[in-house]
Amino acid sequence: MNDLKQSIQYIKGVGPKRLKHLEKMGIYNIEDFIYSFPREYEDRSNIKKIIDVKDNEKVTLNVTVFGKVQEKLSKKGLKIYKLPVRDSTGIAYAIFYNAHFVKSIFKVGQMINLYGKTKRNFGEIQILHPNYEFVENDLTNTPSSIIPIYTLTNGLTQKDMRNLGKNILNLYGNLIQEYIPNDICKRNRLCDIQYALWNIHFPTSLKALKIAKFRLVFEELFILQLGLWLIKNKLNNNIDGITFHKKKEIDKFIKSLPFQLTKAQIRVLREIERDMESNKVMNRLVQGDVGSGKTIIAIIALYKTILNGYQGVLMAPTEILAEQHFESSKELLLPLGIKIELLSGSIPKKKKEDILKRLKDGDIDIVIGTHALIQENVHFKKLGLVITDEQHRFGVRQRSLLSNKGLNPDVLVMTATPIPRTLALILYGDLDISIIDELPPGRKKVKTYCIDEKKRKKVYDFVKKEIESGRQVYVVAPLVEESENIDARSALDIYIELKENYLNNYKIGLLHGKMKSYEKDQIMEEFKTGKIQVLVATTVIEVGVNVPNASVMIIENSERFGLAQLHQLRGRVGRGKYQSYCILINYGKSAISKERMKIMEESSNGFVIAEKDLELRGPGEFFGTKQHGLPELKIANLFKHVRILQKVQKEAEILLKEDKNLSLEKNIFLKKRIIDKFGSKIEQLSL
Ligand code: ADP
Ligand code: MG
Repeated sequence: MNDLKQSIQYIKGVGPKRLKHLEKMGIYNIEDFIYSFPREYEDRSNIKKIIDVKDNEKVTLNVTVFGKVQEKLSKKGLKIYKLPVRDSTGIAYAIFYNAHFVKSIFKVGQMINLYGKTKRNFGEIQILHPNYEFVENDLTNTPSSIIPIYTLTNGLTQKDMRNLGKNILNLYGNLIQEYIPNDICKRNRLCDIQYALWNIHFPTSLKALKIAKFRLVFEELFILQLGLWLIKNKLNNNIDGITFHKKKEIDKFIKSLPFQLTKAQIRVLREIERDMESNKVMNRLVQGDVGSGKTIIAIIALYKTILNGYQGVLMAPTEILAEQHFESSKELLLPLGIKIELLSGSIPKKKKEDILKRLKDGDIDIVIGTHALIQENVHFKKLGLVITDEQHRFGVRQRSLLSNKGLNPDVLVMTATPIPRTLALILYGDLDISIIDELPPGRKKVKTYCIDEKKRKKVYDFVKKEIESGRQVYVVAPLVEESENIDARSALDIYIELKENYLNNYKIGLLHGKMKSYEKDQIMEEFKTGKIQVLVATTVIEVGVNVPNASVMIIENSERFGLAQLHQLRGRVGRGKYQSYCILINYGKSAISKERMKIMEESSNGFVIAEKDLELRGPGEFFGTKQHGLPELKIANLFKHVRILQKVQKEAEILLKEDKNLSLEKNIFLKKRIIDKFGSKIEQLSL
């Protein structure tokens, strides 16, 4: 076995107890430890005397404990612990919040180092929630003045981590191979891996730390980008695809539509047609804000496919959405003699078998469905076009599974979650991008208000008026039913409250993901036909649902949703000719949560909202990296390190041009590392 994959328990100083603590932090083997970088560094060169301390600066104090920890209660009921310390120039207090363990740690007379932010409070010098370290028994005597600070769990100390780190790097550091090819290191002035690892843990200077960090960020992004591109190369080897032909029926079809396409729709359609008519495989992403009219574009592309004698498939992330697409395409395409079927998890077995057979025989032109479409038993006779709607819900792999059901079919990906450019570079690096940046005419901007929950009654008075004038209403909650662990409103709870109280004169429906799909269908159908006036739901209605008569969207606990998600939900109204409203009921008290709600009130542009969301929440949460099955980023930040990402992409491109499967000798360690990081996802694609 690779020594680096050895369990951490064989390291001296790791007993069963420490092992548990380390495992809790996701550190199982030697390599995990080496790649668990400090979260920050303490610059000891800034050791200050108490007398010189200013307000609000980060300092290290070298002090002696001279009294017992004092316990106090703050105005807000927070427990505060004050530790009196001194040096030769004065007295200061270390302040800890809700940390009763400090009472048992410090003893009078101990020498300690404190590192943290200072505060001058009524003449008293305080150092707030500092990192601390006992001086006399600190074995990690580094010559450097820059000390690593690790993320800890209870039971582990900074000293433990440092001692282990030294130990491990000494014993195993040299086993880590240089995986980045020499020429790339040189061109980008990357330090070697050994230097980087030693200096990220135990920097010899601030400059060395910077150099180490740069190299490790580069490495992490490089591996991420290469891995993704290797997967994509498999999807699209730049092999020749299908050459579709122009068909005059398309123009006729467009003219027969009940509306005129917008300029943006026409432009995007032209881009798609150009791709389809070329002999290369199309890989195009269509980004368009909610309600910009992506569906009709998909339908036209499918029609073109059928006219050319191929089959088409459209995959949506939810059954509701798949059904809706099914209905709208049937309406437009059945009269033209095109055979369309729906394939989802809830189709009865017999019917499903029939569909599968006819699909294989080429007796069905278009199939629309959910994940059910990527199952192994689904075969096409002559698949020409693959469309996935709301792609951000699908992983890279799912897309590839679907296109592998044909012989290099064209691929169209549609999304209403505008992806900021930096991320698009990573995730859709090989896709051409089309943007529908215009809404159909006559749409009124949805008026958005963020309110306090105390004003709920007023909101429902307003809702009554809207219902009386014939409109319909959505109420969305974050949970299906009450939960002990999460303090948020549930759809069930609200449903009951509205039925018995505020809106007892109206017809109310409940919709959530735990319901059987025929139940969901029935409720959706009743809402579409107006039988249900108020639909209380979870985010199952988030994507794509289209009921133009609905004019009010109320979102409970709006602080719990991502902005992009709120924008999607808001997009469920304002789809018809009526002035529409979105009411965000906000329980969040933090400044960030208020700022987020303000963005929603002010902006109706999905791109702006997505950028802001990314900025406020960070890319991990924004994007749900888990969904994408991307390796976790430990040091790089897609948002902060755009410049490095650009360098990385340039190098990755050169490298793959030269060695498209990374099979050259010099790239062996790199390839190993990628496979290691991506795990089974990449192996399944059998590189
Ligand atoms: P999305 O881009 O969010 O998927 P849809 O495709 O569901 O949007 O379109 C939203 C609504 O707008 C649908 O009712 C659709 O029929 C309508 N629509 C699409 N294009 C136009 C257009 N050019 N003019 C008027 N209405 C349109
Ligand atoms: Mg849509």
